[in-house]
Amino acid sequence: MTRVRLLVFNPALSVLDYRLPAGMAIEFGAVVLAPLGPRQVLGIVWEPDRLEGTEVPDSKLRPILEVLPAPPLPAPLRRLIEWCADYYCAPMNAVARMALGSMAALRGGGTTTEYRLSGLEPQRLTPQRAAAMDALHGEQASIRELAELASVSEGVLRGMVGAGILEPVTVDLDRPYPRARADFAIPALEPDQQAAADTFVGAVRAEEFAPFLLDGVTGSGKTECYFEAVAEAIRMQCQVLVLLPEIALTENFLRRFEARFGVPPVLWHSSIKQSERRRAWRAIVSGEAQVVVGARSALFMPYKALGLIVIDEAHEVSFKQDDGVRYNARDVAVIRARFEQIPVILASATPALESLQLAEAGVYAKIDLPARFGGAELPAIDVLDLRDEPPERGRWLAPRLVAEMRLRLERGEQSLLFLNRRGYAPLTLCRHCGYRFQCPNCSAWLVEHRLSRRLACHHCGHEVPVPEACPECHTSDCLVACGPGVERIADEVAEVLPEARIAVVTSDTLNSPEKISAFVEAAEGKLIDVIIGTQLVTKGYHFPELTLVGVVDADLGLEGGDLRAGERTYQQIAQVAGRAGRGEKPGTVIIQTRHPEAAVIAALSAGDRDAFYTAEAEARRDAGAPPFGRWAAIIVSSEDEAEARMAARAIGGAAPDLPDVLVLGPAPAPLALLRGRHRYRLLINARRSAQLQDIIRGWLGTLSFPPGVRVNIDIDPYSFV
Ligand code: ADP
Ligand code: ZN
Repeated sequence: MTRVRLLVFNPALSVLDYRLPAGMAIEFGAVVLAPLGPRQVLGIVWEPDRLEGTEVPDSKLRPILEVLPAPPLPAPLRRLIEWCADYYCAPMNAVARMALGSMAALRGGGTTTEYRLSGLEPQRLTPQRAAAMDALHGEQASIRELAELASVSEGVLRGMVGAGILEPVTVDLDRPYPRARADFAIPALEPDQQAAADTFVGAVRAEEFAPFLLDGVTGSGKTECYFEAVAEAIRMQCQVLVLLPEIALTENFLRRFEARFGVPPVLWHSSIKQSERRRAWRAIVSGEAQVVVGARSALFMPYKALGLIVIDEAHEVSFKQDDGVRYNARDVAVIRARFEQIPVILASATPALESLQLAEAGVYAKIDLPARFGGAELPAIDVLDLRDEPPERGRWLAPRLVAEMRLRLERGEQSLLFLNRRGYAPLTLCRHCGYRFQCPNCSAWLVEHRLSRRLACHHCGHEVPVPEACPECHTSDCLVACGPGVERIADEVAEVLPEARIAVVTSDTLNSPEKISAFVEAAEGKLIDVIIGTQLVTKGYHFPELTLVGVVDADLGLEGGDLRAGERTYQQIAQVAGRAGRGEKPGTVIIQTRHPEAAVIAALSAGDRDAFYTAEAEARRDAGAPPFGRWAAIIVSSEDEAEARMAARAIGGAAPDLPDVLVLGPAPAPLALLRGRHRYRLLINARRSAQLQDIIRGWLGTLSFPPGVRVNIDIDPYSFV
């Protein structure tokens, strides 16, 4: 090979040919540096027959500069990257980017310098330095990361290094991870669990593609079962990837993993620090990382010898990425397993309809765990009709729910209230003139956060302090909070049960591993009587003393008319209900609703999951919705409203006229303004037989747009806003 084709990381040019200098050896998948104009560009050596490019005569080729000291991306991963780019209509280099670590990681291991407090306590400190010292207790990271942690400039910290308050520490990026021990603490499994575990272990040994849907009720011990497959992979010296939907769940997972295997797994998610990322990436590519636990971004990494993938809480919508490459990690994980020829386990108590459908069609092997571990009963579910039993004026909890909570408090048991709304109130308005606080960048109300005394946009992060007076009519003391968020429910609980110890659990309050651990410890140690939380508390946790779950507003998720609203509500409530009665004491769930007749609520109260899924599947079949038909969305945006509208109209005007494809829109998006961009949407509904991606590529490929317009394609969309 003297001529090489590169997939390069440049937004405008993605495929370029180069010459291989004499004496340089190269393999497909190698990561290299090459010249591009006066600069250098990173690229991956690709099979030329799989990557279309323009032919350049040999005489014009420039030589590759350097092969980076990282192993080549293995062929199955290259196939996965091609598949994703094709399926999700995404640029191939954007997909491939997710497989690479940082430039520093590609450059090799070695050492790096981090900083920590030296213990020196200067007599006089500037307020900034004093604040930094408070914030940096127990921390060690790069100057940039510490600056972010302490909310001070890097300059302040460099000054502190100069003064000896912070000291440098040399960190070895190649220091090995402690070895997980497959036989550290083998549990005694119940017969159902054992059968499931045996199947998984057999599949790991077979080293073939085998997709499983592990469908087990909450508390059935799904983790224990798939841990046996993890153990087998460890014995076989294969790597394992466990995907979790949220970083918040990793803490809990770590504890259980450590109890089973003696050491923590290797973590990969957006909040691990730079040196740990480099270390983890190097260990993943070398094969040294045995078990990697991470959020969806862990899926694309170049594992040396992957032997098993597990997707826990596989129904979670957060596996769908909604910016950049819009992929669904659950689906891509199965495709990766196929390319790698390994088993993949989707675990859930409330599987996605799509997954159940594939199990029914025989594509996934379905493994059931129908009962809770240790003979614990599933909780009793009680529907509370808010029209018959309204809360007092200005309150949100019905008297019966409060009475049940009081009973738990008297017995020393715990209650959990679920409301999927952060902050104090979703809308603030002026009683005098009717002014409503809206985000300047988004079509959304500002949410009051009383703990931080701010009004915040949950879409773009815009924040303002809560003003004294109405900005419109300047009347003071006239702002009213409308509707409840978790903070408001916490206030109400403090009023009705003043002696209760309350914890509010949201991404605002549980935003670090330390805080999550502290919460879990407090809850397990019975230092909390009432937990009030968003979807963050609906899954993963196991608190034996928790015997009452109250769903504050079951109707909330059904508003908005999203395709999956019913399914998502079912999953959320079934999951949160699953937190009750996991120990020896039985659990009760009270669902507050104004629509007890809604199919979801009826199914939940009857405990009839099958009926719900059957009805839901029927409705989707009639609508040609997934998994029976296919959907794609085209989202057009620009900072200029007219420009966005015109581009969307041009796309609508060029829509193909095909018998198996229906194009709806363009229409202004429900979130018509997001982060300062005006948005329009088109929705495409296609039969399964349609070549949806080719049709969209052909359709959009003929059009061109002004530079300020962005056109995003979302295949199998989950978000419709
Ligand atoms: P799920 O994920 O299915 O909701 P978990 O895996 O959280 O259930 O299991 C529920 C609880 O039961 C956990 O505390 C777990 O440690 C315990 N458990 C499950 N199976 C066993 C077993 N075979 N031996 C001991 N404890 C178990
Ligand atoms: Zn906003």
